[in-house]
Amino acid sequence: MELFEHPDVLVVGAGVIGLSVALELHRRGASVTVLERGVALAEASTAAAGMLAATDPDNPPALGPLSELSLHLYPEYLAHIQALSGHLVSFQTNLTLQQTYPATSDITPAQLDRLLPGHALSQLHFTGLAERSIDPRQLAPALLAAVRAIGVHLIENTPMLSISAHEGSISVRTLRRNLAAQFVVDCTGAWTRSDYLSASLPVFPIKGQMLSVAIPPALPLTFTLRTHGLYIVPRTSGPHAGRAIVGATVEAAGYAKATSNEAIRGLYDRACQLLPPISGAPILEQWAGLRPATHDRLPILGALPENPRHLFATAHFRNGILLAPATAQVLAALIAGDPPLIDLSRFLPARSPTSLA
Ligand SMILES: Cc1cc2nc3c(=O)[nH]c(=O)nc-3n(C[C@H](O)[C@H](O)[C@H](O)COP(=O)(O)OP(=O)(O)OC[C@H]3O[C@@H](n4cnc5c(N)ncnc54)[C@H](O)[C@@H]3O)c2cc1C
Repeated sequence: MELFEHPDVLVVGAGVIGLSVALELHRRGASVTVLERGVALAEASTAAAGMLAATDPDNPPALGPLSELSLHLYPEYLAHIQALSGHLVSFQTNLTLQQTYPATSDITPAQLDRLLPGHALSQLHFTGLAERSIDPRQLAPALLAAVRAIGVHLIENTPMLSISAHEGSISVRTLRRNLAAQFVVDCTGAWTRSDYLSASLPVFPIKGQMLSVAIPPALPLTFTLRTHGLYIVPRTSGPHAGRAIVGATVEAAGYAKATSNEAIRGLYDRACQLLPPISGAPILEQWAGLRPATHDRLPILGALPENPRHLFATAHFRNGILLAPATAQVLAALIAGDPPLIDLSRFLPARSPTSLA
């Protein structure tokens, strides 16, 4: 089969990770093609709640430095996307009330009453985190417009079938054509093929079901509420202002993305217990997405030891929206041969199973 695409870098997978990597590589002068099995940004990246939850106590501690780097990069990442696309992507919230374990509290009942005047929150104990969120469905069209504006070649409806290494290049086979590049970055999320990785580090899907409700007009909900296993994230500006996202289930259920009325009802009922004023609020939408997971719950970032041209940026599990800017910088630095921005040993594709958290 003829080889007729020769970008510097071929990114496989047009989710938030693949497109953010493409944007950063292009900024550094590389020619980039993005290959997408379906259509761009139609999988996990638009199913997400959009919390930039770097301080979620459920995160593995080893994620800390990458999360902090990404938070630091976020304002500039959004500004760059806005400059290229003309789309504003705003932070939706600046505060998260996180249920505390054990039940000690640094938010007093009086402070809670100031946050939601006249609206009793459930009797749980909370701590206040200076944590932001964005709306991934506001980010998606902006990111896509930015990538299109700079002329990154996006080839949709074209799955990668296999990858092969050659002297001085690497190529990807698809049904219609082969594409050769200096580097391939695999950003295929929950579909990352484990046969390229060590047997001890498979990537697998963890389904999350979610719903959105209309926030009652009299409820001034401007912050995120999160317990162990449930969150309520309001959209405060943009196309979805006035709705709150309620999530999410965490299910090992293969690649099926159907929602179940039982799971959605369960989330809704628990949300109403946590925040009684939303009882009776209409459900506007329900959906499910597939988080790309590893057993140690850490992403896979970097090249295969046996082939430095074959890199991965995948398995961001519950934090891919948070980690997109840092992932893009880390991958671009690796490809440029620049010194790593943070210690990447916990994220390498060849990390040892003994390093599991
Ligand atoms: C319910 C839910 C809630 C979440 N909430 C949050 C949150 O609040 N904050 C946060 O930071 N993260 C959150 N996440 C996690 C976040 O959504 C993911 O970590 C992130 O979207 C992963 O991005 P990605 O680009 O790797 O994957 P995806 O968006 O899934 O993109 C992967 C792409 O690769 C393509 N692809 C697959 N195989 C091939 C192939 N062979 N050839 C070509 N293309 C291929 C797919 O079609 C897809 O478009 C949530 C996820 C879910 C499901």
